[in-house]
Amino acid sequence: LEVGNESGSEFVIGVDLGGTKILAGVIDPTGGVLSRAKKKTRSERGVEAVIDRIARTVRRAVEKAELDFDRVERLGIGAPGALDAATGVVAEAPNLDWKDVPLKKLLEKHLGIPVTVENDVNAGTWGEYRLGAGVGVRDLVGIFVGTGIGGGLVLDGRLYRGSQGKAGEIGHIKIASSGPRCGCGQVGCFEALAGRLAIQRMFKEAGKKGKESSVLRAVEGDVSKIRSGAIAEGYTSGDKLTGKILDEVILRLADGIAGAVALLNPEMIVLGGGVIEALPDEFFEDLLDKVGRRAFEPSLEGLQIKRAVLGDDAVLLGAACIAREQ
Ligand SMILES: [Zn+2]
Repeated sequence: LEVGNESGSEFVIGVDLGGTKILAGVIDPTGGVLSRAKKKTRSERGVEAVIDRIARTVRRAVEKAELDFDRVERLGIGAPGALDAATGVVAEAPNLDWKDVPLKKLLEKHLGIPVTVENDVNAGTWGEYRLGAGVGVRDLVGIFVGTGIGGGLVLDGRLYRGSQGKAGEIGHIKIASSGPRCGCGQVGCFEALAGRLAIQRMFKEAGKKGKESSVLRAVEGDVSKIRSGAIAEGYTSGDKLTGKILDEVILRLADGIAGAVALLNPEMIVLGGGVIEALPDEFFEDLLDKVGRRAFEPSLEGLQIKRAVLGDDAVLLGAACIAREQ
């Protein structure tokens, strides 16, 4: 490891704060990840405990990079929920059980370096834009399919947050007028129809009707245990029920993507998240085909749809880039 003292040789910390784990990385001046550290979030222990765990994860990552903490200039953190990027206050994060937490202020006090706070999905989208699948484009929509479905917008080269910082909530765009109730309280939301919880629900309903499936057998009927890997396994091995469910999910995904395409005419859609990452290229190709058939045709011209490439590093890399560019 060569460490220079010239200007522009800035080391930045990126942090991905999730409901279950904290991931921190030391990012070198070229955007490479020098080291990573991970801890469980343990949000049930309260805000101060989580802040302390973030600080410890960060210090561990710096240690692993064999870097003096003095060499670290700043920190960017991607956090879940509704937050104000300007003040760094997390207004509401249900999966941390947080309300009005001054994350920026608390972390700056603990670590003594400037901290930038961004919504995690925005950070992941920015990471893909700066260092991943979206390098070179100016208009990009990030869509991440995991437990739910999150979205981020880069419009004309800038992260678009909306009037209240809540833009990009593609998971709550309606793609049906009825259906299962979403976590937000509404029905017909994209994520309630095509996210992993939705897929689990579809398995559950099929199971109740006595449908056979290797995926259902493997979890002994407890569909909450069906992870993205198991869905992909069922798909690849030709499990009939999985194929049928994913045929339906593909149409729903295509419709959600088509909404973003019609509204924003992006240059690129980047698709990531556990479900998309786990599924093979055959699924992805089928999805592209369905988008091509179902989206507003004039907006499809020149559109690229790519897989996200940064995986678990997307949020921490994006948060670090945002911190560096501040
Ligand atoms: Zn919703």
